[in-house]
Amino acid sequence: MAHVERQQWDVVIIGAGGAGLRAAIEAREQGLRTAVICKSLFGKAHTVMAEGGIAASMGNVNEGDNWKVHFRDTMRGGKFLNQWRMAELHAREAPERVWELETWGALFDRTADGRISQRNFGGHEYPRLAHVGDRTGLELIRTLQQKVVSLQQEDFKESGDYEARIKVFQECTVTRVLKDGDKVSGAFCYERESGRFFVIEAPAVVLATGGIGKSFKVTSNSWEYTGDGHALALLAGASLINMEFVQFHPTGMVWPPSVKGILVTESVRGDGGVLRNSEGKRFMFDYVPDVFKEKYAETEQEADGWYEDPDNHRRPPELLPRDEVARAINAEVKAGRGSPHGGVFLDVSTRMPAETIKRRLPSMHHQFRELADVDITAEPMEVGPTCHYVMGGVDVESDTAAARGVPGLFAAGEVAGGMHGSNRLGGNSLSDLLVFGRRAGLHAARYAQACGTERARVGEEQIEAAAAEALRPFGTEPSPGAGAGAGPDAGTGGEAGGPAENPYAVHQELQQTMNDLVGIIRREEEMGEALERLAGLRERARRVRVEGHRQFNPGWHLALDLRNMLLVSECVARAALNRTESRGGHTRDDYPEMDREWRRANLVCTLKVAAAEDGAADRISLRRREMPPIRKDLLELFEKEELIKYLTDEELTSE
Ligand code: FAD
Repeated sequence: MAHVERQQWDVVIIGAGGAGLRAAIEAREQGLRTAVICKSLFGKAHTVMAEGGIAASMGNVNEGDNWKVHFRDTMRGGKFLNQWRMAELHAREAPERVWELETWGALFDRTADGRISQRNFGGHEYPRLAHVGDRTGLELIRTLQQKVVSLQQEDFKESGDYEARIKVFQECTVTRVLKDGDKVSGAFCYERESGRFFVIEAPAVVLATGGIGKSFKVTSNSWEYTGDGHALALLAGASLINMEFVQFHPTGMVWPPSVKGILVTESVRGDGGVLRNSEGKRFMFDYVPDVFKEKYAETEQEADGWYEDPDNHRRPPELLPRDEVARAINAEVKAGRGSPHGGVFLDVSTRMPAETIKRRLPSMHHQFRELADVDITAEPMEVGPTCHYVMGGVDVESDTAAARGVPGLFAAGEVAGGMHGSNRLGGNSLSDLLVFGRRAGLHAARYAQACGTERARVGEEQIEAAAAEALRPFGTEPSPGAGAGAGPDAGTGGEAGGPAENPYAVHQELQQTMNDLVGIIRREEEMGEALERLAGLRERARRVRVEGHRQFNPGWHLALDLRNMLLVSECVARAALNRTESRGGHTRDDYPEMDREWRRANLVCTLKVAAAEDGAADRISLRRREMPPIRKDLLELFEKEELIKYLTDEELTSE
């Protein structure tokens, strides 16, 4: 095999979204040499797409807000399945992370008296989302990138090399986390443009790869959300938790078909937008579940009064947590009261002056004008649920973001599990990735420092195995040079003997399967069928063949991503089949109630070692793990009447 270049760094961060960049800044601030690898262009991470804002209880718009209220809202949103320690750290530290961004140059929208403005969002008791119009993610990434550049300038002054202590490898994809015994030793990568392989040796690896949305047909996620970090963790021996909880955002575009799934930010509802069915009825009043009844308005008049006078009115039901709104829209469409293109209507045009809409929601105004030829200042939008976020992810230690069971592996941001329980509140992802990105960078740096010169090694045989795996879609090994063709058996079938498969066809069937059978409403038979289909798709994926050479070859890249999407999809389907209740982002038609016994359980997915490399029908093993009891002082933040809805009698009497 051709020579594969090796580089040595202290910490390697996989992903340059908010979590990855925040981790990188922290590791570099600790004085460690930090490499950042990202699949897309630097600056084009998913975080850029975040519209609504960053949730942090700064109390700028309502002084009643503080970390305890934010903690309570987050636990309620997650239906008490959150790793409570993560929810606590998140609520306590989010304001500091936002203020820190401001000192690094972020330009937030302001209140009339000059403080960082905060807006309302579903499930948040007070206006809490620090924002920059509806382009908050862009400003967040711009600021973090600027900070990286300023650190590089400091390094240049000191050493004459901008990349002495922080270097970004853009458009490079990691296909394996490498290990020496049980310890992490680095990452195997390919460069998208040239197809060249290289290895980064480092004792600490931080996964910050984002979500899994591209396994579903209708999604707000972009092309790189193929569950890579989730799969890399599994393959490295770590576990995933809560994979049954997938968030379907209630408002994605439904028309035209080419843009189906693109997000319509929750700020539209936070700023006063309302949902109506084809009969013009504001239907959300019919869908307030018992657990939320006390907090939500019963009439339009009461709901509308809340925008001006929140202390004396209850909240509009359009601002229920996302899972509730998504299910309500689904039910209206199913009942035949949907909009012409299979969604419902979301209207701001009758609620705010045109100029206010353009000022507060500039991206939405532009998006609908350009993509759907709809002027949202004059007519309603058509919207419906879209796969948006995965609550499940790498099983990490709450304080350190260390992946349990794999020394040297860390995870932060959307790829990490636990923080959001069964359902994430809007705005809680940007704050999550800042809080836990920093923690992951800090603890990865400390871990690497503690390793000293006794570093785990990357064996040549591991590199060869990773390269062979990456080249399998070509049939035989092509050279990375220009004009290098596919191997001789390209297009003639795989070693399993069946016909050659096209990666795009397999991907399309995977997306359809997950959408239809493990989507927003789930049933036992359908998930059983999904698992059978996934086994078939996995077998076909082994026969995927691609043409051409290794230089910028999207078919090849997708063929490699398929392994990850299939692994992650199996985790989602198995966990969803196992959890016989409905909670947050997991709705069972056959078990429609929330079950207090199930609140105590996390479903933990691991890879069956013997099946890791072969095409076995089930590669994921699932076990049930008890949640640790919630600390007493945190439980005391809730009324007993509320806790009764979530905790078992045994838990209630033991506190
Ligand atoms: P990302 O920002 O997605 O970054 C992932 C990085 O990993 C990228 O650099 C990618 O290239 C890289 N990567 C992936 N796989 C590999 C690999 N194999 N090798 C190398 N690199 C890899 N949340 C909020 O809190 N507020 C909002 O207002 C909000 N609005 C949203 C709007 C939209 C349209 C969407 C889709 C999401 C929104 N979210 C919002 C959710 C939030 O944006 C994401 O959850 C969050 O940005 C994830 O950040 P991250 O750092 O974990 O991952």
